Amino acid sequence: MSTRSLQRIIPSVATADGAGVKLRRSLGSSQFARLDPFLMLDEFYSDNPNDYIAGFPSHPHRGFETVTYMLDGRMQHKDHLGNTGDLAPGSVQWMTAGRGVIHSEMPRQSEGRMRGFQLWLNLPAAEKMKPADYRDIPAADIPELVFDGGRVRVIAGTLSLEGERVAGPVNGGEASLATDPIYWDLHLDPAREVTLPLTRGHNAFIYLYEGQASIGGQGVPHRAAGVLGDGDRLNLVSGSDGARLLILAGRPINEPVAQYGPFVMNTREEIEQALQDYRDGRLTEAV
Ligand code: FE
Repeated sequence: MSTRSLQRIIPSVATADGAGVKLRRSLGSSQFARLDPFLMLDEFYSDNPNDYIAGFPSHPHRGFETVTYMLDGRMQHKDHLGNTGDLAPGSVQWMTAGRGVIHSEMPRQSEGRMRGFQLWLNLPAAEKMKPADYRDIPAADIPELVFDGGRVRVIAGTLSLEGERVAGPVNGGEASLATDPIYWDLHLDPAREVTLPLTRGHNAFIYLYEGQASIGGQGVPHRAAGVLGDGDRLNLVSGSDGARLLILAGRPINEPVAQYGPFVMNTREEIEQALQDYRDGRLTEAV
């Protein structure tokens, strides 16, 4: 047994995306700020409609998966496949762009708080051009593991703790998920401790978005990606206000990454092809 340490911090930087949505980007803020298989993590959090009202009008993706987790507020997703998704508080949208998706993500509110995360999860070369897929996961379908000291919402992967086992709605058992991702939202009560199992060899990071926490006596920075060293468990201690944090882990793909905006492939040529396909209106076409 070995415990994972806090190895590297990727701070979040204020930026804007879509038609001007203000957000904080940690992973993905530069090409050096990735953690295979994770490409990007954006946090959006505002009570001011001017920060989010413009939304993300119609735009393409190819070669990876986007995962949106809403904490507060409502967005609506529409895509070229005819899917319409309601992103309500506590819900998750898991979209596999594969060969191509063209979609929009627009706010369904004109006031109030909008808060959540968007994660970009890479696909291996063999799956980059597979057909697009889309899943809306309502809050009620995300199971929670409650333990003495807190609870974990299990969005992806399986968590075993204190003799209990909870499988998330997105699970590595599905053939589609070569990266076998874990996506947990941990809520720790004030001044408590928990030890969670993580697969050795999988890359992992945490993102503290409320309260205070420490790992091995080291304080975890607020609103930053804390990259973990290897090991088979993670020990966390919360501060006097408790802690809320995302825990993400996945099997590294170990392939070259060529990215141009919303296209993430392995080579420059494949990026050129994606741009060409998009210009020709063939991005989303079945092969
Ligand atoms: Fe998008």
